[in-house]
Amino acid sequence: MVTIFPEVINAYTDISILGRAKIKGLIQTRAHDLRTWTFDRHRTVDDTPYGGGPGMVMKVEPFDQAVQSIRLKGKKTRIILTSASGSFFTEQDAKRLAQYDQIIFLCGRYEGVDARVEEYIADESLSIGSYVLTGGELPALVMLDAIARLVPGVLGKKESLTMESHTQNGCLEYPQYTKPEQYRGWKVPPVLLSGNHKEIETWREKQKKYPS
Ligand code: SAM
Repeated sequence: MVTIFPEVINAYTDISILGRAKIKGLIQTRAHDLRTWTFDRHRTVDDTPYGGGPGMVMKVEPFDQAVQSIRLKGKKTRIILTSASGSFFTEQDAKRLAQYDQIIFLCGRYEGVDARVEEYIADESLSIGSYVLTGGELPALVMLDAIARLVPGVLGKKESLTMESHTQNGCLEYPQYTKPEQYRGWKVPPVLLSGNHKEIETWREKQKKYPS
């Protein structure tokens, strides 16, 4: 992740499943401060837009130098620009990106990033939805999370991956329940308590949703 707020990245990647995967050496994450690649007294990463307009635009040079510096030699690397106008990130993208050795996420802020970053540096621009956030850190974390859990060994049980929403033709998972059997009169469907695995399977299959 290349960002001007590296601290928000580590707060998320050091905990729970991602944190354990890092300790086990299954994945590595690094939050790089974009200002490392600035060379003026104020460590400037943004400037006014050519042609006028409101706000500030993030400069191309720090992103370019960051990528040149952190890109691993001889590895399969994919450079992703987080962008509200990028293509929508899906589970299929997560599967595709999980095949890379290294993914570099470029996180924008302010009014966005100099368009030359998308044109000359990034391999692709991805959005996490049709809304505008204040920065690319949450989108980068969302994508990282979805990708990392597909890396072999990161999740405990293999089934956790195969039976989940979006894994098979966009199909959505059946409802899940746990103890107690009844809470405030809200009951677990009796079939799930029947012990009849065939019936349970049929019920679950019926409950799955297939988007039209
Ligand atoms: N002016 C830009 C536009 O209209 O598309 C929005 C810039 S936004 C305030 C600042 C940064 O947040 C973007 O450069 C991008 O990195 C990130 N961002 C905001 N919304 C996003 C989304 N839905 N998906 C991915 N990144 C997003």
